[in-house]
Amino acid sequence: MIHNDHCMTIPFVSRIDSNEAKKWLQALNHVLPKNRIVSINDLTDDERRQVEIAIVADPDPRDLAGLPRLKWVQSLWAGVEQLLAEMSDLTVKIVRLQDPQMASTMAEAVLTWTLYLHRDMPLYLQQQRQKVWWQHDLVLPSDRTIGILGLGNLGKVSAEKLVQHGFVVYGWSRTNKQIADVKMYTGEAGLKKMLSKTDILVVLLPHTTETENLLNDTTLTYLPQGASIINFARGCIIDERALQKLLDSQQLKHAVLDVFRNEPLPQTDSLWTHPHVTVLPHISAPTNVETACEIVAKNISHYYSSGTIPAFIDFKRGY
Ligand code: NAP
Repeated sequence: MIHNDHCMTIPFVSRIDSNEAKKWLQALNHVLPKNRIVSINDLTDDERRQVEIAIVADPDPRDLAGLPRLKWVQSLWAGVEQLLAEMSDLTVKIVRLQDPQMASTMAEAVLTWTLYLHRDMPLYLQQQRQKVWWQHDLVLPSDRTIGILGLGNLGKVSAEKLVQHGFVVYGWSRTNKQIADVKMYTGEAGLKKMLSKTDILVVLLPHTTETENLLNDTTLTYLPQGASIINFARGCIIDERALQKLLDSQQLKHAVLDVFRNEPLPQTDSLWTHPHVTVLPHISAPTNVETACEIVAKNISHYYSSGTIPAFIDFKRGY
């Protein structure tokens, strides 16, 4: 067991913009003053041989492969799909960021864009452009059902926020959950049942082999006519062309998309100008440097004092 009284050198492995990396290095060194966090490029060969932990943000997997004693990596992101796909050494554990601040930011985004759809903002925007004065019936939150796919760190807090606002909230996850005033569904039959009663669907699942294209030309048609979708998770969970077809025919009313199969969304993609799509540039819940660093520091200090690796990704399950 290692004690944190010694100065440990921890590499920061990343392909992010150099200014951004500088900001992270400064903040990480501030919260871990007994350690030395440096870019992996600044490590000596001897230091590389000693490394047990790396802090990563979109790392080049070849850099990680050059650390023979690496035991675990602390990601600065909550979603680690790409890292999982690229990781060659499956004995190295991946610890993703689980930050209550991020959950709260995501819940705020979910409430914001749910209200955008609930209060028919896309429709009133269109009416203004056409100078149409037309009042539509107001639906109360208690008559609006929001279905959430995925009730993990982000989905649970989002569900609670929607309940507080008075919406009828349903949730679907792999295993059953107990969340006050949230009706839970699991399995394929549960998915179909929940979708068939959902007015606004919020996607907060990880991207895995099981969730890839989960929303496709079959499952999307389980949603009632006029339902809307918010995808704040990963683009690959929805078959974008199937979605577009259903939006074209107005079977589905509107989609708020923050994530896409290809990011940035290519200039030529028709989703950019689709009248029933709101495109967001992956901003629903960015990592907060300050709170993320505190969590990273806690995880690393705890490892050095106890030898315990924090909760890590299950490679088989994919999240
Ligand atoms: P999490 O804590 O791992 O929760 C994942 C949830 O999805 C769990 O409830 C899990 O069920 C459920 N799930 C996973 N696979 C499933 C399957 N095959 N069928 C049914 N349910 C399944 O993840 P999180 O922290 O909430 O984050 C979710 C995703 O949000 C991340 O993976 C990332 O892609 C995305 N994200 C996006 C942004 C953004 O800015 N747009 C920011 C952060 C994260 P169990 O609880 O039963 O295991």
